[in-house]
Amino acid sequence: MQVYGSKELVEDVLNKDLCIGCGACVDLCPYFKTYKGKTAMIFPCTVQQGRCHAYCPKTESDLTELSMSLFGKPYDGSPMGHHEKILIARAGDKVHPAPFQAGGAVSALVTFAMKNGMVDAAVLTGRTGLIPYAELVTESESVARFTTSKYMAAPTLSAFNQGVKQGFQKIGVVGTPCQMTALAQMSINPLHTENFKDSVALKIGLFCTWALDTRKLAAYLSSRLDITGIKAMDIPPPPAEILVLDMGGKTIEIPLSEIRPLVPRTCLLCPDMTSEWADVSVGVLEGEPKFNTLIIRTRTGQDLVDKAVAQGFLTIREMPAVNLDHLSAAASNKKKRALAGAMEEGLLNTAENGKRAMMRIEKAVVERILA
Ligand SMILES: Cc1cc2nc3c(=O)[nH]c(=O)nc-3n(C[C@H](O)[C@H](O)[C@H](O)COP(=O)(O)OP(=O)(O)OC[C@H]3O[C@@H](n4cnc5c(N)ncnc54)[C@H](O)[C@@H]3O)c2cc1C
Ligand code: SF4
Ligand code: SF4
Repeated sequence: MQVYGSKELVEDVLNKDLCIGCGACVDLCPYFKTYKGKTAMIFPCTVQQGRCHAYCPKTESDLTELSMSLFGKPYDGSPMGHHEKILIARAGDKVHPAPFQAGGAVSALVTFAMKNGMVDAAVLTGRTGLIPYAELVTESESVARFTTSKYMAAPTLSAFNQGVKQGFQKIGVVGTPCQMTALAQMSINPLHTENFKDSVALKIGLFCTWALDTRKLAAYLSSRLDITGIKAMDIPPPPAEILVLDMGGKTIEIPLSEIRPLVPRTCLLCPDMTSEWADVSVGVLEGEPKFNTLIIRTRTGQDLVDKAVAQGFLTIREMPAVNLDHLSAAASNKKKRALAGAMEEGLLNTAENGKRAMMRIEKAVVERILA
């Protein structure tokens, strides 16, 4: 992949409103900071090739290179990415019940990975009011504090960068597809650093169709309700078309038509719905809100699931074909929309006059996706 410096990152991502605030460029150096959902460069830096640019999922992401490095085969544009199995899952009896978003498979897998020594720390995302925050936790008992989805873009990877600085070598990360892309880019050692050590031991990716802009959501809801009273939020699968706010005792439903204008435009250019670069990916299960869809992609993911099932932390069952068809259609639609939009904006495979691209995908694959 082509790597540039912070100047290009600012020009190509921050100034073009493509930043999703994932946190991958934050806490690497003193210059990039995150505040209430926004990332900013607070001092200029003259480095020609920087980790900030190399890790950012919104510039020069080369999906063929990532796929070859992670899976040993080219990126083929299939709706849900390379995978071994797709199952239905939920937390097993060994996991303390908690207010999970769906079946609690994510919290169950993180808890097990920590207890089992597969990871020595985990990066999770919490929420204060409507502001998401990232934390590096080292005790499995802490996982329950982070259950439920915060449907806002979060600076999760800033806590990963802090963990690396603190010397953790086996870090597990739960994050959205853009965050999994950033982690995958870190893993390929894009700056060819000598004695490179990949500190990511486990990637648990969430499904994500879009997130909400933290500041815009706070502004929208503040004028309608007391945002400090929001206990949890949910966006049930189609055809519900609502954002549900649990206010502790009562629920408020807001039509998605009112919420969609709060989706950052960068999400509309994002091709990945199912966290294709993760070891395992987890989403909700259509029609069964207390279960998860679980995609196993790598040997690490398969090993984790096998052991978690054997020791009572996870239960699994087969996925019916009808669910698979719906999932595939949704993931395919997201890809088509993203690629069409990126082409229209000159952000895909841009090559003329040394112009930089947001993402690079083989031409034949682009044609297949858009067909
Ligand atoms: C922005 C966003 C959009 C989503 N869109 C979809 C979708 O379109 N379709 C679908 O099927 N599922 C979607 N999900 C995933 C779904 O909401 C659940 O997270 C998933 O099914 C896991 O459920 P669980 O019960 O296992 O999670 P839990 O066990 O309750 O754990 C939730 C985990 O999510 C992490 N987390 C919460 N918010 C964030 C965040 N903003 N960024 C990074 N990590 C976070 C927490 O650290 C926690 O570990 C989305 C999630 C998010 C955060
Ligand atoms: S790495 Fe993440 S936070 Fe930084 S500029 Fe890119 S998208 Fe924004
Ligand atoms: S839609 Fe893509 S860019 Fe937006 S939060 Fe989800 S994974 Fe990130």
